[in-house]
Amino acid sequence: MTTTTTTTVTTDPLLLDTAAALAEHLAPRRAEGPVVLVPTMGALHDGHADLMDHARTLAGPRGTVVVTVFVNPLQFGEGEDLDRYPRTLDADLATCAAHGVDAVLAPAVDEVYPGGRPQVTVHPGPLGDVLEGASRPGHFAGVLTVVAKLFGLVRPDVAVFGEKDFQQQTLVRRMSLDLALGVDVVTVPTRREPDGLALSSRNRYLDPDQRAAALALSTALRAAADAGHHGADAARRAALAVLDAEPGVELDYLALVAPDLSDAPGAGDARLLVAARVGTTRLIDTLPLTLGGTDDPTDHPTGQPTPEQETP
Ligand code: AMP
Repeated sequence: MTTTTTTTVTTDPLLLDTAAALAEHLAPRRAEGPVVLVPTMGALHDGHADLMDHARTLAGPRGTVVVTVFVNPLQFGEGEDLDRYPRTLDADLATCAAHGVDAVLAPAVDEVYPGGRPQVTVHPGPLGDVLEGASRPGHFAGVLTVVAKLFGLVRPDVAVFGEKDFQQQTLVRRMSLDLALGVDVVTVPTRREPDGLALSSRNRYLDPDQRAAALALSTALRAAADAGHHGADAARRAALAVLDAEPGVELDYLALVAPDLSDAPGAGDARLLVAARVGTTRLIDTLPLTLGGTDDPTDHPTGQPTPEQETP
């Protein structure tokens, strides 16, 4: 009888802290296969690991996966958590090693912004002023500026983003198209805890009570998705019922929109986005949903459910 032992070989990714070192590393590799970028702010979790796995698949065995770890001061507003944002580079490197990453660029702030705040920044346009942009003025200018800079430093063929930051991936995709940056922007679904809470680097700020309260965000989104066949109002009401019942959640916004962030359609594909404060921690989440053409029975002028609505 023969026994086989399977060993997983992980190779440590190359840790680089300058753009010049990264350029040197990438130069001979560009002809071999695609360069795939995963931009992050570190404090990596399994959601980030999903992005890396997807990047590895897209790059193929001959391509190169680059993860950037950079807490971008430009995207934090006054009084936000820039100073307390978790920095866990050693653990991040281990995660990158376990997920087939070739190189990690973890630059200092003055490597990315050598002259201090850049004079020329990216203006996000009208989509940058709504939802997260309305609550966090200047946030998307900071995000798009650093993403444009990282695109310039890494010159990737593909960049991988999480669906969880839905407005962010929409804006980055638009920027790449509108400014012809030539980077294919790919989105990966949100990784959740078994109970539904979306993984976030900020979850580590939550104490056990806050962690329990935070669950209302994903529960509310799911309730809305379940009610979506009754129409937009029913979906909104279902989500608000969950959020209103949780005193530990201070709602910032609950927005039902079309998948391109324009006004929600009467029926068909839509997207629900939620942002809320739990204690001092601001969390966001999102789910796609399908809206039915008919609205909730209680919205019906006669108060009578239609036959379609009676069907469970
Ligand atoms: P961050 O480091 O939090 O700025 O996130 C880096 C990337 O990881 C972004 O594209 C996020 O959308 C993505 N991301 C964050 N949380 C998750 C998650 N739970 N599942 C999948 N992707 C995520």
